[in-house]
Amino acid sequence: MFIDFPGEHCDTVRISITPLVVVMNLKEILQRWKEKVRRFMSGRYGGDQFSRFLSFAVLILVFVNLFVRSGLLWLLGIAVLVFIYVRMFSRNYEKRRKENERYLQLKYKLTSGFRNWMDRRKQSRDYVFFRCPSCRAMLRVPRGKGKIRVTCRKCGNAFERKT
Ligand SMILES: [Zn+2]
Repeated sequence: MFIDFPGEHCDTVRISITPLVVVMNLKEILQRWKEKVRRFMSGRYGGDQFSRFLSFAVLILVFVNLFVRSGLLWLLGIAVLVFIYVRMFSRNYEKRRKENERYLQLKYKLTSGFRNWMDRRKQSRDYVFFRCPSCRAMLRVPRGKGKIRVTCRKCGNAFERKT
């Protein structure tokens, strides 16, 4: 789309206004689309940590499938993807929230061993860690105190330990 302006020396200067119009239209279209999505999603559950994890799992599946090329993996990926969308569009907040809660608890349990190990490593300069010989509870005593008598705070068992 062009607008003709009479130039100073009889020539006409053609100024293109097309890109500007396109940009304005795009903006409007995007705005309208956003509004539609917002209206569609209102009252629906949307995303959470669980769906983020599932999306990541699908990504891994797709990647693995590049090498394995298994129809079963492909089907599994699609199934998980469908599950993600079903959860996002769900109006059953309570059920979805519980699913997310269960996921977070499981994740916490599965990573606690590693977290504790990291924690002990960080403190290993100042503390000695060992398990109680009778109840296997993890105990911590300051490092470099020589031979000391330790009383387990869980079962009350007393024993001696070099630090
Ligand atoms: Zn104990």
